[in-house]
Amino acid sequence: MRNCNSLIFSLTFLAGFALTLASHPGCKAKTGKEEKSMDSLVKLPDIKERLAKYAPTDIVIDEKLLAPEDRQVLAKLVLAARKIDDIFWKQSYPEGLALKARLEQSAEPADKDYLRFLNINFGPFDRQDENRPFIGTAQKPAGAGFYPQDLTKEEFEAYLKQHPELRETFESPYTVIRRDAVGLTALPYNVAYKEDLEPVAGYLREAASLTSNESLKRYLNEKAADLLSNDYFNSDCLWIDLKGNLVEIVIGPYEVYEDSFMGLKASYESYVYFNDREEMKKIEGYLNFLEDMQRNLPVAPKYKDQKVTGLESPLHVVVEVLTAGDCKAGVQTSAFVLPNDERIREKKGTKKVFLKNIMEAKFGKSLVPIARRVLGPDDAAAVSFFAYFNETILHEICHALGLNYVTLPDGTKTTVNKALRDLQSCIEEAKADVVGVWNVPLLMERGWIPADKAKEVYTTYLAGMFRAMRFGVTEAHGLGTLIQFNYLRERGAFVHDPVAGTFRVDFGKIRDAVKDLAARFLVLEGDGDYDQVARFVKQYGQVDDVTRRTIDQLKDIPVDIEPIFHLSY
Ligand code: ZN
Repeated sequence: MRNCNSLIFSLTFLAGFALTLASHPGCKAKTGKEEKSMDSLVKLPDIKERLAKYAPTDIVIDEKLLAPEDRQVLAKLVLAARKIDDIFWKQSYPEGLALKARLEQSAEPADKDYLRFLNINFGPFDRQDENRPFIGTAQKPAGAGFYPQDLTKEEFEAYLKQHPELRETFESPYTVIRRDAVGLTALPYNVAYKEDLEPVAGYLREAASLTSNESLKRYLNEKAADLLSNDYFNSDCLWIDLKGNLVEIVIGPYEVYEDSFMGLKASYESYVYFNDREEMKKIEGYLNFLEDMQRNLPVAPKYKDQKVTGLESPLHVVVEVLTAGDCKAGVQTSAFVLPNDERIREKKGTKKVFLKNIMEAKFGKSLVPIARRVLGPDDAAAVSFFAYFNETILHEICHALGLNYVTLPDGTKTTVNKALRDLQSCIEEAKADVVGVWNVPLLMERGWIPADKAKEVYTTYLAGMFRAMRFGVTEAHGLGTLIQFNYLRERGAFVHDPVAGTFRVDFGKIRDAVKDLAARFLVLEGDGDYDQVARFVKQYGQVDDVTRRTIDQLKDIPVDIEPIFHLSY
């Protein structure tokens, strides 16, 4: 799963107008039933504005920092990962590959932009504009390339009712559904993508032969075997167990977001990265204060009398070298939790991985410009990556604080999750944010966070709210942010300057306001009273005109980055 902070929900930007492209000699239609001649394709004219949502960003790593052995291993991992792009094109929208080839050959200068956007989206559909086609008029099939395009849910279900013995393979995350003369068939991924997977496995084995780290060697060999057998259990367990290695790869079919038809089929993706040992040590430092932070919660003992056992997933900080496939499409992942397989989650747990250089890039290209526009100059100057990163780590840690279980007025014991139903994730995300900010002064007293960072922390918190709210205030994280923003504004901790049109932090009021808000969320969760939560969400979950106008001013600021990888292999 991708990090809650990195999920972007559908946005409608600009109503595009279809424009017919004049034909030109550089483009000759190729054969193939899906293809149309170039002059019959329409293209949205606002491609430059669409591209501007993604700030091109060089992802550069200093290979000199790596030992010769790690460099050799890394080179093989990069070669393996690159092949994953080929598979994901086939999974996402196979017809897109022909379109890509034609744009690459086109002599039309504007086609460079269309090609770049096609590559960002892995197809002619704008992932940030509800998959609106920006080339052609075809709609993206809900089942991407995983199912026959004419298949309906009714037919799929009816077929499985007739053939119950096929249900498991048909519903497997690792098969594609095809139609043949007899009916429907489920083709395993290792058969469907065999020609791409064999070289991937070859590179992984070569990498395994080059490393002297035993855990990595075992993992890479097992991963190579698993990609070819279509059973990922063993290698995903070994990924959890990796120890002492610097370079690392995640590779295989994981997330099912691309399958909006049935939500069953996993897309191939790969992350190549190296572990940031210094940052990892720092995170261990934060975890030393877990119990201290629980005691420090500004609520009555009954709302915090639960022992904190630790985090659901250990936190890892890494430097991204390359991504490929699903996780490279559209908005970039800044953190992920894997594996998704419940059997492995039960047996081994999961790892949560933060891609620190990607977070830094997003901070620089998106959060800093937002801060300069929505904050007064003095506050904007204080916004820092240190505070942003600290806030992100504390958010993750503070999910573990407060209560997980509640006793309802009728005496039944249940989880906070179940009691708060659809409102749980909004409240839980907001709780993690504000409890994280509340704990900063404690960590300062303990000497863990430098005492002079308060201004950075609060201004970065405020700027980050606008980054979250511009993605929409209807989904959990955006709504949770809006509630925090409105509450803290009501308490006078955030002050609007109507003349400048900016906001500032009232440093005399913010700490107490954060304390009260943290308490509100902890009590809402601890009481588990759905109606009480619903009233609170309604009271503070409204966007007023000032907030709307401020968010609207951010339209031209990039929403995300377009990673440009520079590797010599
Ligand atoms: Zn979260």
